Amino acid sequence: MKALVYQGPGQKAVVDKDKPTVLKPTDAVVRMTKTTICGTDLHIIKGDVPTVEEGRTLGHEGVGVIEEVGSAVNNFKKGDRVLISCITSCGRCANCKKQLYAHCEDGGWILGHLIDGTQADYVRIPHADNSLYPIPAGEDEEALVMLSDILPTGFEIGVLNGQVAPGCTVAIVGAGPVGMAALLTAQFYSPAHIIMIDMDDNRLEAAKTFGATDLINSARQNAIETVMALTNNRGVDVAIEAVGIPATFDICQEIVTAGGNIANVGVHGTSVDLHIEKLWIKNITLTTGLVNTNTTPMLMKTLESGKVQPEQLITHHFALDEIMAAYEVFGNAAKEKAMKVILSAD
Ligand code: NAD
Ligand code: ZN
Ligand code: ZN
Repeated sequence: MKALVYQGPGQKAVVDKDKPTVLKPTDAVVRMTKTTICGTDLHIIKGDVPTVEEGRTLGHEGVGVIEEVGSAVNNFKKGDRVLISCITSCGRCANCKKQLYAHCEDGGWILGHLIDGTQADYVRIPHADNSLYPIPAGEDEEALVMLSDILPTGFEIGVLNGQVAPGCTVAIVGAGPVGMAALLTAQFYSPAHIIMIDMDDNRLEAAKTFGATDLINSARQNAIETVMALTNNRGVDVAIEAVGIPATFDICQEIVTAGGNIANVGVHGTSVDLHIEKLWIKNITLTTGLVNTNTTPMLMKTLESGKVQPEQLITHHFALDEIMAAYEVFGNAAKEKAMKVILSAD
């Protein structure tokens, strides 16, 4: 089969690999029908994630059809259509019992990281019963691909951690796929205002169509002063950081109002300045974390009911065997006006 593999810093290639097989009774092998590329894949290719070995098949998102199941898989059989979670979890260990699937003692974020991932014709999924979800008949599979990682990330680490509530004011710094996922799912709770901050006008315009009430281009405007002006100098109840750099974390610390929440979603490659001297006196709660995908069943219901339309994030379509071209577009997201790209095998 064909697979997109990491070949050392700055290098990737499509190579021939053996089709995966069931290695443990709890495994399933899935034939990929749709997958996508995540910003994390770009970080891995840059060489920012040293735990990824050369030759590793990338990708941790997608949907597909069960090809083979191990003897201990109870929930799935050959031919079932499934959504793949970016987190694999046993469902039984102490951390899984707390719904901390990202910290499963025998799983977590391993697909396309510590074991081969989804940017291939087939993928092996450990702990299939707790790491795959059946796809309801008639469901939009492209929309579902957004539920492997992006939508639960924006929802769990941004919206739920930030405690978005009816009537509140939210600011989201970073209008990439993760910030947009927070924007879409924040609207479950009817906040009065959602201020989107980015440096890319295309992304800001898209955010407006997805429900942002105010846009700030921080390349041209002072983000802190503009948020304060928009909020009568009060600041925001919830500041969601969805970039992962010190400057945007700083913005969140400045714009959050008394009693508010900073929900850090961005993955920071460096330390940030924590202005505890300013936060304590404002009674600020700061949260951060790795997505658990424990809200996937709930998000699937909101998708079925039409309450959220994550397919809005899809800007480009490719065949799976055009994956190198898809990386070219996704890697030049600003120039190509790309958000999420879908790679289809059928
Ligand atoms: P992305 O790179 O596609 O989007 C980031 C956005 O931030 C872009 O639109 C960019 O224009 C904007 N931006 C960059 N610098 C800025 C600045 N100084 N001011 C304002 N905007 C700026 O990234 P993404 O895929 O949307 O992911 C966002 C973050 O979430 C990343 O750090 C990613 O690693 C992280 N992430 C976290 C988790 C988790 O479990 N916590 C999971 C997935 C991704
Ligand atoms: Zn991802
Ligand atoms: Zn576990």
